[in-house]
Amino acid sequence: MANVVIVGGQWGDEGKGKVVDLLCPAFQHVVRFNGGNNAGHTVRFADRHFALHLIPSGILHPACRCLIGPGVVVDPTALLGEITALEGQGVSVRGRLLVSPRAHLVLPGHRALDVAREATRGAGRIGTTGRGIGPAYESRAARTGVRIGLVRRPQRLREAVAEASRELELSIRRHEGAAVPTADEIEAAVAAALSLAPMVGDVSLALAGAVGRGEPIMFEGAQGTLLDLDHGTYPFVTSSSVLAGSAAPSCGLPARTIDGVLAVLKAYTTRVGAGPFPTELTDALGEQIRRRGNEFGTTTGRPRRTGWFDAVAARAAVRWNGIDAVALTKLDVLDDLPEIPIATAYQTGGAEVTEFPDDVADLAEMTPVYEPMPGWRTSTVGITDYERLPELARRYATRLEALLGVPVVLISTGPRREETIVRRIAPLARWIPQPL
Ligand code: GDP
Repeated sequence: MANVVIVGGQWGDEGKGKVVDLLCPAFQHVVRFNGGNNAGHTVRFADRHFALHLIPSGILHPACRCLIGPGVVVDPTALLGEITALEGQGVSVRGRLLVSPRAHLVLPGHRALDVAREATRGAGRIGTTGRGIGPAYESRAARTGVRIGLVRRPQRLREAVAEASRELELSIRRHEGAAVPTADEIEAAVAAALSLAPMVGDVSLALAGAVGRGEPIMFEGAQGTLLDLDHGTYPFVTSSSVLAGSAAPSCGLPARTIDGVLAVLKAYTTRVGAGPFPTELTDALGEQIRRRGNEFGTTTGRPRRTGWFDAVAARAAVRWNGIDAVALTKLDVLDDLPEIPIATAYQTGGAEVTEFPDDVADLAEMTPVYEPMPGWRTSTVGITDYERLPELARRYATRLEALLGVPVVLISTGPRREETIVRRIAPLARWIPQPL
């Protein structure tokens, strides 16, 4: 039994939803520790399809308790909508979901400001999802935010939301033509927040109790390592800390709570929004991978940029997170390709570098040095046994293990839960001794 953090090892959309869902039965508690409803997980099993944005994927497993930590920003209207949609699909949510009173609210003004800014930025846009997440984190850091715990004092909640909304309106009005939220929209957000009151409670205390009883906790990361506010490709990053090391402290738990870190990495790379992407394929091959991998955003429907696996970036992710093992996803998307290059270094100004740079301007000037790997050119869809993978596909996975210095313990060969190779090797076998 272990407490494990699951992080995205690239720019997000690595297929964390599926991996988290697969591992949930081994955990009693699943907690989201960062981001907001800008994250989007797609989970499929049997013929059902669930889109989750704020609620941990554990909600699809009746024995899991789900928690939203203090480091998450919560759009009350979006959360209520998600709860209603899940309940409409027969999933019980109320009574199993605990939201930290310390989590900050995303208000209609945050959303309006996000949209107004992106519109003004034009070509310099960051590529935010327009959900108000960045502005909500700004309010938190500026100490003008509203925490969801105020639902226990409705009058104070209304006053705090009104004051924050007035302040946000001043910022929104600086952008020509920007829409300011109406009083009705603001009141609807307050009403949504108030309806969440029965689910608000001390997440840190609940998790400390779980640790004390030896009940395993999964920390479910959102976004990906290269979008981390400090270590990612700033300023083309998200507004919260994404790294595994932040999971426990942001939930009010000591860092030593964490026993292991599993990173989800796609067999290739994708990126949504702007910012340098050294291994990007802007040609027909990139389009082929996009179509085959269905690389369109869960939250926004935006086409994702696609490219080869970048081992320079992934090695940085291993170091920053302390990754112990990898879940490799979407291997099947590469099935048809005659050759699959892996970027093992970057070339810049005649020199070869093997470490990921801290500055996006430097990254933009780097061209990948590729190691070509032969494609397996046969279907891997739905394979569940490592030994049944084509030899060249195993060679690809083994090469990634060598480049990253950590084992690949899970390989995903299709979108469904069933379509997965689970390798019962360390550290997975130690974290989860029973069969999944
Ligand atoms: P997340 O936010 O990291 O969970 O990623 P998304 O849910 O946005 O993207 C993953 C998408 O890929 C979803 O549509 C999944 O159903 C799908 N998917 C996950 N694993 C695989 C896989 O191994 N093969 C294929 N073909 N699709 C997959």
